[in-house]
Amino acid sequence: MENRFHRKGLGPLYSTRRLLQLLSFIIVLAIGIKFYLFVSQLETGIIPKFERPPGVEAFLPISALVSLKHFFVTGKINTIHPSALVIFSIICMTALIVKKGFCSWVCPIGLLSDILSKLNILSFKKKVVLPIWADVVLRSIKYGLAGFFVWSIFYKMPIQSIEQFIQSPYNRFADIKMLHFFTHISNTALIVILVLILLSFAIPYFWCRYLCPYGAVLGVFSFLSIGKIKRNPSNCTNCGRCEKKCTSLIKIREKQSIRSSECTACMTCVKTCPEKQTIGFSLSPGNIQLGQTTIALILVLIFSIGISMAKASGNWENEISKSAYLRYVIQSNLPWNSNGQVDPKKMGKMMRAMKNLQIQRPQMMQQFKKKGK
Ligand code: SF4
Ligand code: SF4
Repeated sequence: MENRFHRKGLGPLYSTRRLLQLLSFIIVLAIGIKFYLFVSQLETGIIPKFERPPGVEAFLPISALVSLKHFFVTGKINTIHPSALVIFSIICMTALIVKKGFCSWVCPIGLLSDILSKLNILSFKKKVVLPIWADVVLRSIKYGLAGFFVWSIFYKMPIQSIEQFIQSPYNRFADIKMLHFFTHISNTALIVILVLILLSFAIPYFWCRYLCPYGAVLGVFSFLSIGKIKRNPSNCTNCGRCEKKCTSLIKIREKQSIRSSECTACMTCVKTCPEKQTIGFSLSPGNIQLGQTTIALILVLIFSIGISMAKASGNWENEISKSAYLRYVIQSNLPWNSNGQVDPKKMGKMMRAMKNLQIQRPQMMQQFKKKGK
C-alpha cells in the first residue's frame, strides 16, 4: 500500500537529494581546483590574474570558531577568513530549520558515506550494527572533540589570544596549509584516511556517526530545529520498515516526533513507509509538511541569501593581498631542510619562481635579496 508521501515523493524525492549532493560536490570540486591553480601559480612566482575562491574557507572550521568568539566579543567579523565564519553560520542556521540536513544533502563527506553504505549493502548480506554500549561510547567521541574545541576557544582563550591567533601566519595561510596537507600528504595521514574509509564501508556512516565534530555541533543546534520527522501512531502499522532503513539507526517507532540529534532529514523513512499520512517532515508551528524538493530549496535559499548578504556587506573576500600570499608561498617553499641539505627538485622550482618574480615584481625580488643578505 502506498501513502501520499510515498507516491508523491519516493522517486523524485530521492533523486532531488542526490542531485543537490552532486551539485554541492561539483561546487566543492570547482573551488578546490581553482584554489589549487591559485597556489600552483604562486609557487612558480606568478601572481594569479584570477581571485582566490573564498569558499575554500569552508574547510577551516577552527578558524570559524575562533572568528565566532571574536565576533561575540567585538561585534566585528574579522577580515582574515570572513567566509569561514559566514559559511559556519549558514550551516548552523540550516540546522534550526532542517535539522542536520546539511550532512545528508550538502556535505561531500555525507555523499561519500552514502556511497560506501550502498557498497556495504551490496557486499554484505547483513548490516553490521554495533552493540548499544559500543555505539554510545563511540558516539561520545565526536561530542568530546567538539566540546574540546568549544571549551578551548570560548572558555580558555582570552580575546588577546583570539586576536593574536587570527593575525598569526598560521591562521592567515591556513588555507594553503590545508591544501598542502592533501597535495603533499604524508604516509601517516594517507593511512588514517584509508582506515576511516574502510571503517565507513564496514560500519555505515562511521565517520559521520562517531567522529565528525562538525556534525556534533550541528546536532546540538538541531535540537532547536522547527522542522522534524513526525509519525502518526494511529496510521502506523508498526511494520518497522522506516527503522530498518534509517541511516541514523533511530528508533522511530518509539516516538511521535524525532528530536534526535542524529536525524539528518534524509527522508529515507518517509519514502520507505508504505502507509498513507503516517510519517513526514513537518515544520512547527502549523505542522506544515515539507517534501524533499522543498527541503532542497530551503537549503539552497539559506546558502544563497547568506552568501549574497556576506558579499554585499563586504564580509566574503578576505583582506590578504596576492603579494602576501606570494611572499608566504615562496618563503615556505625554501629548498633546504633544517640540516641545511638542499633538495634539487625544490631548488629548480625555486629558481623558476625567482625568475618569474624578477620579471613580474622586481621590487619584491629586491626585498627577498635584502632579507637573504
Ligand atoms: S531515516 Fe528518517 S529518522 Fe532516520 S535520519 Fe533519515 S529522516 Fe531522520
Ligand atoms: S512509520 Fe515506520 S513502522 Fe509505521 S507504518 Fe511507516 S514504516 Fe511502518
